[in-house]
Amino acid sequence: MGRVEGKIAIVTGGASGIGKASAIMLAREGAAVVVTDVKVSDRQILETEVGNGAIFIQHDVTNPTQWQEVIAFTRDRFGQLDILVNCAGIIEIKTPQNPEEATLDVWRQVTSVNVEGVFIGCQNAIPLMKETGGGSIVNISSIAATVATPGAVAYGASKAAISQFTKSVALYCAKAGYNIRCNAILPGAIITPLWDDLLGEGERRAENSQKVVADIPLGKWGQPDDIAHAVVYLASDESKFTTGAQLIIDGGESIVS
Ligand code: NAD
Repeated sequence: MGRVEGKIAIVTGGASGIGKASAIMLAREGAAVVVTDVKVSDRQILETEVGNGAIFIQHDVTNPTQWQEVIAFTRDRFGQLDILVNCAGIIEIKTPQNPEEATLDVWRQVTSVNVEGVFIGCQNAIPLMKETGGGSIVNISSIAATVATPGAVAYGASKAAISQFTKSVALYCAKAGYNIRCNAILPGAIITPLWDDLLGEGERRAENSQKVVADIPLGKWGQPDDIAHAVVYLASDESKFTTGAQLIIDGGESIVS
């Protein structure tokens, strides 16, 4: 038996990085996964890579109508929803994003995906989950929710919002008796395409990468699977007594003063 055998999952931002690793691991542990993303290079390859009958849906998490369609599809196809992983996220640091130079456009873009996308997702998923016996929501926040991010102000603020929102969803659902848990994962530096603009290319990339690793007590980058393991734990019944938690997975980065 897989750890999430027979469960139905939706994973947003599932075409890349942490979302893709989480979709693959959930499928390997027995879940049927609806993988969504605003873009994908080849949907069939992705569906095969995720496995266990995974289905890809093109979906912009900032769009409420598309969320309704994703939930309706899941209801029609599977009759239930057990797991929602809100993983889609952006950082947008192509232009300086310190408190003086950050633009309102980028602030709105980042908070729209990272905060509103998660809010709309939870709001649409809760009714189907509660109707069909409950479920587990996993929101991918960041250690940027708790440590200062002077070069990416909207990103840090957006992740703090998601960590806080997670607790509200957790308490609301618990008090309502919905059998829905909601937890956040706060990853540190996980090597994915999200870092491409920060690291740059060529020699500069290697130098910048070393600088990132220098701040991590365990002395290495995190891998998408390091987060996917935690997603499976929080999605599974192994975590049935865990709600409102903020699970930091960062190689010790946030404990360094
Ligand atoms: P990634 O860039 O590899 O994946 C993000 C995915 O989100 C992409 O496939 C992208 O197309 C999708 N996406 C972007 N905007 C979207 C939208 N409007 N609707 C739907 N999908 C959209 O990055 P990643 O590192 O795997 O990031 C996944 C999550 O993890 C993000 O929320 C990110 O903030 C968070 N996170 C990452 C790190 C890290 O170091 N990589 C650290 C902390 C938190």
